[in-house]
Amino acid sequence: MTRPPAPGTHGRTLVASDLDRTLIYSAPALELTMPDASAPRLLCVETYEHKPLSFMTEEAARLLAALADEALFVPATTRTPEQYLRVHPPGPPPRYAVCANGGHLLVDGESDPEWREHVAGRLTECAPLDQVRAHMLEAARPEWLLKERVADGLFAYLVVERSLLPGTWVKELAEWAGDHGWSVSLQGRKVYAVPHPLTKSAAVAEVARRTGTGRTLAAGDSLLDADLLQYADAAWRPGHGELADSGWAAPHLRALADRGVLAGERILHEMTAALTEEAATPPHSVVSGPGPAPAVSAPPPVAPSPAPRPAR
Ligand SMILES: [Mg+2]
Repeated sequence: MTRPPAPGTHGRTLVASDLDRTLIYSAPALELTMPDASAPRLLCVETYEHKPLSFMTEEAARLLAALADEALFVPATTRTPEQYLRVHPPGPPPRYAVCANGGHLLVDGESDPEWREHVAGRLTECAPLDQVRAHMLEAARPEWLLKERVADGLFAYLVVERSLLPGTWVKELAEWAGDHGWSVSLQGRKVYAVPHPLTKSAAVAEVARRTGTGRTLAAGDSLLDADLLQYADAAWRPGHGELADSGWAAPHLRALADRGVLAGERILHEMTAALTEEAATPPHSVVSGPGPAPAVSAPPPVAPSPAPRPAR
């Protein structure tokens, strides 16, 4: 896959972020703790079956629109393209978006065929979806299994009644899946099983390669974001989610204490500050180069490796 960098992107910072529970929040995930009279005003960025579903604070929306003017903003989500296209972040529609955990690279809203072909080739390296799906269904119990879904023929997930899900079930599934080249992630009411070759970092690295961007900033909250955060030059995670719960850390990672929708706002504030600092730094003092992958103090047991960083 060789093509010249997209115009106007060379050397710009790439900002890659997970969406759900990182930048956008459903009502149960808002975690607003202040008196109602002091709650921030919220912008609805997604409607599902004619009802409002996902929100960000108005301040977060303002920050994201400004950030997308300065940097190349690339949403990086486990949502399928169809689920992603329901989300309308502020600012112009992102030129590039990573969907299905890296299974699709959307360019101007269309799934890139060359990337799909590349991904299909890599999926031969792990156990087939049918085998993993069958194992998940066999291990699940009707008392807590609400729905079972396959996303675009790429990975599987269960929707569960979280309060009835045994504490050890996800861990046992993750151990089995790890031996078969798959990762497991529990996010809200969904248990995902995703093949190791399907990573957000690989797709974001492809965007960086095509566009010739400089540094990468990233944010995410779940184990499926770990490889992306590890790949980035600077990264953020909220005080909620799987990464916070497992104490995941890295030298270039800011672990925020903020939880819920206010964590999304804080991430965007700090990313904006990082961009501003970078713009104010004289070019000769910028430390660049790929460097070694950062050491993580507590790598998640089921997260795949990040994509190699492109030469910069
Ligand atoms: Mg998330």
